[in-house]
Amino acid sequence: MLVSLMVPCYNEQEALPYLYDALCKVTAECSQYEFELIFVNDGSKDNTLGVLKEMAAKDDRIRYISFSRNFGKEAAMYAGLAAAKGEWIGLLDADMQDPPSLLPQMFESLEKDECDIVATRRVSRKGEPPIRSWFARRFYHLINKFTDVEIVDGARDFRVMRRPVVDAILSLGERQRFSKGIFAWVGFRTKWLEYENVERVAGETKWSFWKLFRYAIEGIVSFTTAPLRIAMIVGFLTSFGAFIYLLYYFIHALIYQIWDLGGMVLMALGIIGEYLAKTYIEVKNRPLYVIAEDNKKDEETK
Ligand code: UDP
Ligand code: MG
Repeated sequence: MLVSLMVPCYNEQEALPYLYDALCKVTAECSQYEFELIFVNDGSKDNTLGVLKEMAAKDDRIRYISFSRNFGKEAAMYAGLAAAKGEWIGLLDADMQDPPSLLPQMFESLEKDECDIVATRRVSRKGEPPIRSWFARRFYHLINKFTDVEIVDGARDFRVMRRPVVDAILSLGERQRFSKGIFAWVGFRTKWLEYENVERVAGETKWSFWKLFRYAIEGIVSFTTAPLRIAMIVGFLTSFGAFIYLLYYFIHALIYQIWDLGGMVLMALGIIGEYLAKTYIEVKNRPLYVIAEDNKKDEETK
C-alpha cells in the first residue's frame, strides 16, 4: 500500500536535511508500506529548491513541486494533497515541529481501523511568546463559540488521513482556505495524539504576529457569518435606544408644556375666581349692616 507524505516548504534549506533524515528513519521502520515523499516549494527565496533537487536525484520516492512565487502554506498544502496518490496521506511541516517520530504510531491507529484521521495537538506552547499564546487561546475560544465546527485548541495541521478524507478536503474549492476549519468541517472519525511543543530545528518562523492575526480573522470569516448578525443586532439595539430616547424627549417636552400651560391656566382661573367671588358676594346683595336700636329713629323719619 502506498503512503504519501507531503511537506510545504518555504525557506527551509537548513531544516530539510534534518527532516529528510527523520523521514528515512520512519520509512525504514515502516517498511510494510510504500512511500512517496512530496515536497512543495512555496516560492522560497533561499536554496530550498536546490536542496530538494539534490534529494530527488538520490531518492526516487521524492517528488517536488515548485511554485512560481510564495502563495502561502494553505496553497502549498492543497497542491501537495492534490498531487498525493497514496491510500493514506500524511501532512507535516518541514521544520520538525511536527515530529516525524510520531508517524509510526499514527499509521498503527489507521491500521487498526480505529479512525479515518489521526491528528495531533500540542498540549503546551512552551518556547512561544506569551502574548502569541494568549491571542491564540482567545482565537480558539471565539471561533468555537461562533462556528458550528469545533476546532481543538492547539490542533496542528500534522495528520495522517485516509483517501476519502483527502478527497473531501480537496472538494472544498474555496479560494480563501482556512485548513484548521476545513479539517474540522469535513468530519470523519478523528483520533487525537497529544505532544509537547517542539521548537523548530533550524531557520525561523514565517508567521509574524500580524500575519497570524490576519489568518485568524480569515478563519472566523470563512466559517461563520456571526459577525454580520452581531452587526445587525448592534444596529437594531442602537436604533431602538434612539427611538426610546426620542420618545422620552417628546414626553419630557410634553410634560414641560403641560406644566407651563397648566400653571398659566391655573393662574387665570385664580384671577377669574377672584372676580367670581366678588360677583358672588355682590349678587347676594346683603345689607351693609343691621340696626338693633336707635333712640331717635322716629324724629328722623318725620
Ligand atoms: N510555509 C509555507 N509557506 C509559507 C509559510 C510557511 O509553505 O508562506 C511552511 C513552512 O515551510 C513550514 C510550515 O509551513 O513547513 C509551517 O511554517 P512555520 O514553521 O514557519 O510556522 P510555525 O510553526 O511558526 O507556526
Ligand atoms: Mg514551525
